[in-house]
Amino acid sequence: MSEDISFRDRPINLDAQGRRKWVYAKNPTGKWFKNRTFFTLIWMSFFIGAPFIKIGGEPFMLLDIVNRKFIIFGAIIWAQDTFIMALLMLSFVFFILLFTVTFGRIWCGWACPQTIFLEMIFRKIEYWIEGDFKERHKLDQAPWTGGKIFKKTIKHILFIVVSIFLTNVFLMWFTGPNRLFEIITDPIGLHTQGFVAMLIVSAIFYWIYSFFREQICTMVCPYGRMQGVLLDKKSVIVAYDYKRGEPRGTKEGGDCINCQQCISVCPTGIDIRNGTQLECINCTACIDACDSVMTKVKKPKGLIRFDSIEGIEKGHKSIWNVRNKAYSVVLAILLGFFFVMLFTRSDVETTLLRAPGTLSIITAEGKVLNIYNMKIVNKTHRQMPLEIRLLSHKGTVKRSSQAALIIDNQSTVEGVLLIEIEPSELSKGKNKIELGVFVNGEQLETVKAGFLAP
Ligand code: SF4
Ligand code: SF4
Repeated sequence: MSEDISFRDRPINLDAQGRRKWVYAKNPTGKWFKNRTFFTLIWMSFFIGAPFIKIGGEPFMLLDIVNRKFIIFGAIIWAQDTFIMALLMLSFVFFILLFTVTFGRIWCGWACPQTIFLEMIFRKIEYWIEGDFKERHKLDQAPWTGGKIFKKTIKHILFIVVSIFLTNVFLMWFTGPNRLFEIITDPIGLHTQGFVAMLIVSAIFYWIYSFFREQICTMVCPYGRMQGVLLDKKSVIVAYDYKRGEPRGTKEGGDCINCQQCISVCPTGIDIRNGTQLECINCTACIDACDSVMTKVKKPKGLIRFDSIEGIEKGHKSIWNVRNKAYSVVLAILLGFFFVMLFTRSDVETTLLRAPGTLSIITAEGKVLNIYNMKIVNKTHRQMPLEIRLLSHKGTVKRSSQAALIIDNQSTVEGVLLIEIEPSELSKGKNKIELGVFVNGEQLETVKAGFLAP
């Protein structure tokens, strides 16, 4: 093992005085990097394209926080559907738990937007303009000449343009493409708040990807810190086979020739040979680097590979343990509930509450009248002519408005409902009544409410 154990004392990108040590990662190449590039293309296509996809005329995904309208898989999640939202969030938490217990921090290296944007977009621009790690290090150390100012200016202009672009795509998930296009093309004065929000988010993106960089993963993100409790000996991680590699750098020793190529490509600047560290985002760049070295020295690939600690220690390959089996069962149950509840929701949802401060009234005809506030949500993609009938008692249901009760697709109507019941049908005090919501004679929903009788 290495004599230098300072990695135990402080984050790898800080020196002994606590100053930032800039990470100059080498441009990665190799099989895993090609796979990651391919995955990034799919990921970016989804990120940019998903807000444009429509299902049944509704967006595939829309998280309209301002209007409290969430659309998932083309289905609108209304405020009344908070249980479905809660199920979705719980499923997401279990998915992360299951995935992490089984495959370690692979999310961070392959699917986290922070890594994708930094490693696959911003660093690529940097490699293109300033060169690979040695050239960039040299350029940063060099005095400010015309050439250096030119390169840095072009790089930062491109960083700003990309930050603004990514911010607008990100905002599209919350506004939808049409609304975003309106906001962009309208005079700024009409959307000052939105414009300022866009500028702030773009500035944060630019600052993160230009200056703060990998510190998000190593010092800010709480997920990285949870690895200690989530990972176990069967979790598959990017791991160095110390049994095969050590003692390193000696002719008669292990396979590691101590070339440090695995460190030079690491975007968080760590030495994977020190074991699992919270800074490792499982990006696999060190696997590619080491495989290429092993090929050159005519040794088998895989000195650094995807494997579990148990796999390295005992050659044990199963990824299953009690924890991930239990998480899988819970996740399957949660997802099952989520999809059943999402796609079997009633088409309309009615809320009926007695009007505040009102008591029962005896009408001129001698009937008992109660007044209600009514709200009906139409969750379907079609307009509906509705009718409300009293099911449990003999009586009449009237609306304060004379207009027909027609509710547009994906919208709500509110109004006042007057319910009159024969006194002989009621007991003194509080009664329970049932109403039906009908469309063209077909009952869609049963609504229960309290009814006061004198
Ligand atoms: S790249 Fe492979 S051989 Fe070179 S130092 Fe890292 S583990 Fe050892
Ligand atoms: S140690 Fe390897 S897998 Fe982990 S972040 Fe560094 S290069 Fe990526």
